Amino acid sequence: LVDVRGLTKSFGSLEVLRGVDFTVPSGSVTVLLGPSGSGKTTVLRSLNALDLPDAGVVRIGDAEVDYVDVPLGRDGRAKGDAAKRVGALRAKTGMVFQQHNLFPHKSVLENVTEGPIVVQGVAKADADARGHELLAKVGLDDQADKYPYQLSGGQQQRVGIARALALAPELLLFDEPTSALDPELVGGVLSVMRELADEGRTMIVVTHEIAFARDVADQVLFMDGGVIVERGEPSQVIDHPREARTQAFLKRIL
Ligand code: ATP
Repeated sequence: LVDVRGLTKSFGSLEVLRGVDFTVPSGSVTVLLGPSGSGKTTVLRSLNALDLPDAGVVRIGDAEVDYVDVPLGRDGRAKGDAAKRVGALRAKTGMVFQQHNLFPHKSVLENVTEGPIVVQGVAKADADARGHELLAKVGLDDQADKYPYQLSGGQQQRVGIARALALAPELLLFDEPTSALDPELVGGVLSVMRELADEGRTMIVVTHEIAFARDVADQVLFMDGGVIVERGEPSQVIDHPREARTQAFLKRIL
């Protein structure tokens, strides 16, 4: 379903992605590991076109963009016909961020229904019904009328997951969804993510939660210096890493 070839990206003179290739089969979970600054967030942001790669091909389902063919305007956004192709790719993805960045002045339910109503033109009653279903799924339907500041960080992250699901994405991207949480709140978020994996969602997860990676991932990618250094099943990459850089990283975090 997801195929990434030759992704490169620089910020000024800093080469952050130096040729990233990987495939994520439909219904599988990929965990992306690596030290700070290795380019993990930039990979996720490239997949949903928050950052536009300099080169490389991204395919998600039936949407494909070859970034060599994407001219950028002065604002750094894709121009013309390319903007449509990039938009079609972005529409395949839903992203959950490290900081939930919910709309502070909207209720929990409105945070979940905003996308479908505004982006997809779904009728409010339908969006509300679906929003309640999604909040129930993340264990928060009783909080629908509250505002984000009234929730714990873990609950806010679960709203963030419901919001990402509301647009019915084919690919879910998680960027360190638990790293800003107090330890006692991490489990609730990870268990929602496990359920999504069990349902057969296609997911790419940047996380340092090694137990989650071991249990849930079908594939682990270890990144360093803008390239994937090692890849394989968790039992191989985590428990029997072949590369010195993977070994050194795991030693530091385990
Ligand atoms: P972390 O675990 O710390 O989030 P990461 O592996 O996700 O790290 P990235 O966030 O992808 O790494 O960043 C890779 C490098 O690119 C870093 O050196 C970062 O400072 C730089 N970088 C990222 N975004 C930008 C930007 N918009 N402008 C300039 N530099 C950037």
